[in-house]
Amino acid sequence: MCMAELVKLIRIVDAVRAFEQSQPFRYYAITDDRTCEACMKYDGDWFSWEDMVNTFPDLERISDATYLPHIHPNCRCQIIREMI
Ligand SMILES: [Zn+2]
Ligand SMILES: [Zn+2]
Repeated sequence: MCMAELVKLIRIVDAVRAFEQSQPFRYYAITDDRTCEACMKYDGDWFSWEDMVNTFPDLERISDATYLPHIHPNCRCQIIREMI
């Protein structure tokens, strides 16, 4: 791959990332009898990208639309990017 192609590719990746990070994210707790109060508290909440990374320091990226907040060990919650 030549340099110009590489630069073009990086611009596309940056644009995709900027788009992803401009979208709202929604917290989904798995709600059953094992769900703790900390997880329940966030269930259904909306976050901007910035709020999400600031609120959940252990955030793990699973895919471009799915993140795991890991607010405690064995946390089963997911944060999903919602398209607008
Ligand atoms: Zn929990
Ligand atoms: Zn949880």
